[in-house]
Amino acid sequence: MSRLPLSLLLFGLFTLSAATPPLPLITGLQACQGLPEQQRFWAENGANYRLQSGPETITVIGRQTWGARPPLPAGRSWQAYPQDAAFCPQIQRVTVHHTHSEYTARSLQQRHQTQADPKADIGYHFLIDSEGQIYEGRPLGIIGSHSEKDNRGNIGIALSGDFQEQPPTRAQTETLRKLVMALRCPCSDWDGVWTHRSRKQLQFPDAPEHHTLCPGDVLAAEVETLAKNLDLTPKSKEISKNAPKS
Ligand SMILES: [Zn+2]
Repeated sequence: MSRLPLSLLLFGLFTLSAATPPLPLITGLQACQGLPEQQRFWAENGANYRLQSGPETITVIGRQTWGARPPLPAGRSWQAYPQDAAFCPQIQRVTVHHTHSEYTARSLQQRHQTQADPKADIGYHFLIDSEGQIYEGRPLGIIGSHSEKDNRGNIGIALSGDFQEQPPTRAQTETLRKLVMALRCPCSDWDGVWTHRSRKQLQFPDAPEHHTLCPGDVLAAEVETLAKNLDLTPKSKEISKNAPKS
């Protein structure tokens, strides 16, 4: 009499675990030496993965999951970071953007690949939607294409929406905080969390035509507060004139 319920229970446990396999936790961002796990950062069509963020983990929805098309061969800006060294020491900062309109990862890819002077792919490394979900824009191991002539060592994060007058959702800013914590490498000399506008003001102090409102007044103020709370207020006083164009 007890056999049937037990077998049903075992079947239930099996199907439950089969339906929700644990996502891989990529530890390469916390490592100062190369690790096999960080190979995920160069995958063009990768599955979901997790990153450690303080005491918890956060999930990144991989390009394979959201149905990314391949990078556009004729598009610009698709250059990999060296793969023969630990990844995180190659990163110095995060730059935060907004997308002006609401985008899914797929519609953002469509825009970047079909705009005038098309990019090879989404210029940002991550897109955070209004529900606080993180989508992989381009793999971390590919240099970004989100801040003109200022992309090397610079991770691009975009929040979906227009935050010039409206605030992002609480879920978006909370996810941004967790993602920045996850990306901060313990062995690199970070110069902080930037907004697109603060990078351009630094880069082109005397050329307002290069300036931008991105990521909007409201989000810019929130990013400044976030950087302060995480002790990641930007340190750079100037951008190297010899920085490689990428
Ligand atoms: Zn921007």
